Amino acid sequence: MWEDLNLKQILEYAKDPYPSIRKWLKDKGKKAVGSTIADVPEEVIHAFDCLPVSLIGTDKPLKKAPSRLPDNGCSLARSNLELALSYEGDLFDGFVLPQVCDTTQHLSDIWRISFPNKYVESYLAPRQVDRPSARYWVKEEIERLIASMSSWSGKSINDTVLNDSIAIHNENKKLLQEIYEIKKKNPGTITNKQFFSMVKLAMQVDKAEFNKTLKNVKANLKPRKGKNYTDVILVGITCDPPEVLDLFDEIKLNIVGDSLVTGSRYLQGIVAQNGSPVEALAERHMKGGFFSPIHDNVYKHFEEVKALYKATSAKAIIYVHIEFCESQEYDLPDLKKMIRQEGIPMHVLDTEYQTVSLSHLRTRLQAFFESLKGGSL
Ligand code: SF4
Repeated sequence: MWEDLNLKQILEYAKDPYPSIRKWLKDKGKKAVGSTIADVPEEVIHAFDCLPVSLIGTDKPLKKAPSRLPDNGCSLARSNLELALSYEGDLFDGFVLPQVCDTTQHLSDIWRISFPNKYVESYLAPRQVDRPSARYWVKEEIERLIASMSSWSGKSINDTVLNDSIAIHNENKKLLQEIYEIKKKNPGTITNKQFFSMVKLAMQVDKAEFNKTLKNVKANLKPRKGKNYTDVILVGITCDPPEVLDLFDEIKLNIVGDSLVTGSRYLQGIVAQNGSPVEALAERHMKGGFFSPIHDNVYKHFEEVKALYKATSAKAIIYVHIEFCESQEYDLPDLKKMIRQEGIPMHVLDTEYQTVSLSHLRTRLQAFFESLKGGSL
């Protein structure tokens, strides 16, 4: 199903992966377990012979979610709930829902009530990893998830099975990292949208199959420098709808670094393979990049963004803001101030999953880069 895709097909599947997921599950006789972002160890779900699927919203209209989540709930949380309630819920046998911010803190209860006949489990990994108790906590949480999945599925897993699953996921991330490196240095090779579509699709389909596609894609890439590209870094959680990346490609912006959960923050999650898999998954969590300023050190984000900007020699930062993301809204005023004090050009793109027109974003983005070229920023 996903083992021999070309770039055009990757874009199509990434735009709407669900028909292919539905068919694949039927053909293989497997179960799908969805998880909202971020940090659920999908290797555990895969080790139980289920398909882990990251839920990354829908651009289809909101019909039922507004009755369960208020209007000022973030666009991603509302859109994900809608995806499951109105459009694709049938293909999931269960959900594992992490707590990453105040919005997600009680979201698993709403999902539990909304899907009484499905498996719904919370994943409560610590956000403040500097605390001495954090490593113990995350390890216990992974073990609790394993016990919960075991009791639901009636199966058990051992270290060998979990290590095999980790190996497939690691290979996937490594291939994506390698393709990203080619794209960063040779922006005429593949577009931003093509690359980030690969990452998104990797988060939703069978990795063992998709790794074959990624190997082919990588082998057939012909590096091309292209002309007149401006290097930028992308800061945020997700960048949706995917057509936002078309704007970057139109304006010839080359994303040379990012902090997206649907980007580098995912790719950095390669897990050590030389010991206890649960310890290794816990270690990955401890080393994960910054996520939520509400539950973490607000200055850490600034330091990470500044370091990325300097390391990549990018010309500007594009911050992708998700409508009503309380986590970003808590962080953004300080972050903006500190970045501007450093003299780094920064543009904030306001995004919403149900956006129907991007013309206002295009105009603002074009104006920002015209000013940048003119030296007035
Ligand atoms: S971090 Fe932001 S986008 Fe993610 S669930 Fe929380 S409020 Fe929504």
